[in-house]
Amino acid sequence: MQKKINLLGYSLESLEDFFLNLEESKYRASQVFKWIHQKGILDFEFMTDLNKDLRKNLRSIAEVKPPQIEEEFTSNDGTKKFLIKLNSGSMVEMVVIPDGKRKTLCISSQAGCALQCSFCATGAQGFDQNLRSDEIIGQLWLANFYNNNEEPISNIVFMGMGEPLLNFDAVIESAKIMKDQKAYGLSRKKITISTSGIVPNIERINDFVDVSLAVSLHASNDKLRDEIVPINRKYPLKLLIQSCKNFLKNHQNRRHITIEYILIKGINDSLDDAKRLVKLLSNLSCKINLIPFNKFDGSNYERPSDDIIHAFKIFLINKGFITTLRTTRGDGVDAACGQLVGNLTKSIKGKKLISHKSL
Ligand code: SAH
Ligand code: SF4
Repeated sequence: MQKKINLLGYSLESLEDFFLNLEESKYRASQVFKWIHQKGILDFEFMTDLNKDLRKNLRSIAEVKPPQIEEEFTSNDGTKKFLIKLNSGSMVEMVVIPDGKRKTLCISSQAGCALQCSFCATGAQGFDQNLRSDEIIGQLWLANFYNNNEEPISNIVFMGMGEPLLNFDAVIESAKIMKDQKAYGLSRKKITISTSGIVPNIERINDFVDVSLAVSLHASNDKLRDEIVPINRKYPLKLLIQSCKNFLKNHQNRRHITIEYILIKGINDSLDDAKRLVKLLSNLSCKINLIPFNKFDGSNYERPSDDIIHAFKIFLINKGFITTLRTTRGDGVDAACGQLVGNLTKSIKGKKLISHKSL
């Protein structure tokens, strides 16, 4: 039997092409798109505004299939971490973080990551595979529809496992679906792609989709960044900062990039580091998000003391930068990048966790 086409990962444009190829009207694409992404319907049989013949034909050649939730972990603060099983059997994670009216989904774009940043649990696992667009948008679909009573996701950050800009096409296709008014209708400000600095692809994003950008900087000179974010050897700071400026260039309205900076004890947390950072970012319209290092097994790094973190933050604020400190959420569920898949067995045995068996 021929493998069925999974329509979950199709943007509206792609779905229109699909229906035109079937010699159906383009309008069918809007109908199916809304059933999937606004009503959460996966079975063509329930898409009642399609005629019976079309529904039958669709069932024979296509499917709408999200990945599977394998396990769900809930932290005391309401943060939920989900272990997602892909068709191939590989696992990724997604995290849902409720915060007042906001509900943020942290999404994975790759299983593992090839870039091996020295502080990152995902990097330590190595690269397994790229996610397809249905496996990326499938995470949002699951977060919104697997449990119907809950509020829908309001914000998306591509800060789960993997480097989104090394899985460019699938990430762009899924971001188009997130933005589409006939699907999730999330605005540019609500979708953030986080990158460790894949310069040529930073420059390409605007050609395809209008989203926000976060850059994981973590160091203010090339020597240190070469060491802790090794992709810097290929795309050093000068190129990276220039690509950020280019990203912002063609937009009249006031925009900024988010600079992410993990604070690691004794590595990048001194006032000299802060001074260099100020200089490096002086001509870039940006906000800085400081992230205290989140410890995981196998890493020798430590989180700096609260005093050091505070001093670093105040220094940046005094220099005129809007600076926030990411509060640690989901502590009990290891909710930093890649940490659940990294210690799955241990996490399940861990005391602080409440694990709900999957659906
Ligand atoms: N590959 C992309 C997106 C995924 S990483 C990137 O690097 O931007 C998402 C964020 O989690 C990044 O800012 C990353 O630096 C951060 N992160 C990774 N490991 C961490 C740790 N141990 N503690 C705190 N933040 C971490
Ligand atoms: Fe990959 Fe991002 Fe982790 Fe670096 S921080 S290893 S780019 S997932």
